[in-house]
Amino acid sequence: MIDQGGTIGILGGGQLGRMLAMAAAALGYRCHVFTPERDSVAGEVSHQTTCSPWTDDQAIRAFADDCDVITLEFENVPVAPLGPLAAKLFPGVRALEIAQDRLNEKRFVTELGGKPAPFHPVESQTDLAEAIERIGVPGILKTRRDGYDGKGQWRIRSARDAEAIRLPSAPTVYEGFVEFEAEFSVILARGHDGAIRYWDSSQNVHEGGILARSSLPAAPIIVDQVEEARELAAKVASALDYVGVLTLEFFATSAGPIFNEMAPRVHNSGHWTIEGAATSQFANHIRAICGLPLGITSLVARELAMDNVIGPDIERALERLRESDTHVHIYGKKQAVEGRKMGHVTRLVR
Ligand code: AMP
Repeated sequence: MIDQGGTIGILGGGQLGRMLAMAAAALGYRCHVFTPERDSVAGEVSHQTTCSPWTDDQAIRAFADDCDVITLEFENVPVAPLGPLAAKLFPGVRALEIAQDRLNEKRFVTELGGKPAPFHPVESQTDLAEAIERIGVPGILKTRRDGYDGKGQWRIRSARDAEAIRLPSAPTVYEGFVEFEAEFSVILARGHDGAIRYWDSSQNVHEGGILARSSLPAAPIIVDQVEEARELAAKVASALDYVGVLTLEFFATSAGPIFNEMAPRVHNSGHWTIEGAATSQFANHIRAICGLPLGITSLVARELAMDNVIGPDIERALERLRESDTHVHIYGKKQAVEGRKMGHVTRLVR
């Protein structure tokens, strides 16, 4: 167990780190953020920030020495320089290695009995032609690494689209387009003792590859498929001896839940848990990595909706405080660039 007043290291300086640091502070912990980014929004609410490149070995060592336990808010941290802090890192390096590469992730989940969309690795035009021959169109070509919020993805509607595409230099994976009825995620927290708690699975709606809204209650098809999806998530968590919050995203289809991707961290589709659940994903993540008992995750509202506030819409976010039982979160990012997640608003009906 991490003693009161102990220091939690956070790799990454974004809004997830900010909300983790706020939950950690509520339990009397101090946070130390490691990020290459200047003026990070997590650093703004933390005790200390190391602003260095991931490859700065000396800075990584000093950070590891200063922290009692270390976690991450961003999964695309390069793994090779993390050696000096690996023993204190939860979730561990293996979870990161798998989640950083869409191809590894799909293979890993398939071995555990999960069903992703049909997929095929693509590094050349020949591979792409083969992928389309095998899987058909429409489909989506995705970079294996570093994609997020729909970035690094190309829709392919016809064989002609595929011929015209200029492949990126990085390896990609082609996957069949899933005709889903709805999208949902399974978010769980797993403690050092293997105990697992799940939050309700909200229905997630994406616009342009970015999460726009998570809401509850979810569509009946989601409710019907959550149990199977949870079983897979629990298998993933135990195969990785996972500690902390883990997220798996799914498409609800007439053929059952289709695995989309996983994130070894707290997730945007769980932001509603701050006000909408007895214990939030952020609070339980801190509890899990610090070896504290997990809190109950039950829903405290009849209905709720979490809306992301993207880009310049942030200027009007505070207006939503006029609505009843509505909670506005502003991440404090300086530039309201189009497509950037600037805050979120959760509205409850109790
Ligand atoms: P991703 O970054 O892979 O989670 O993709 C972002 C969003 O794009 C998903 O949440 C879906 O709305 C959509 N999407 C991604 N892959 C597929 C697919 N194979 N079939 C249908 N929609 C997809």
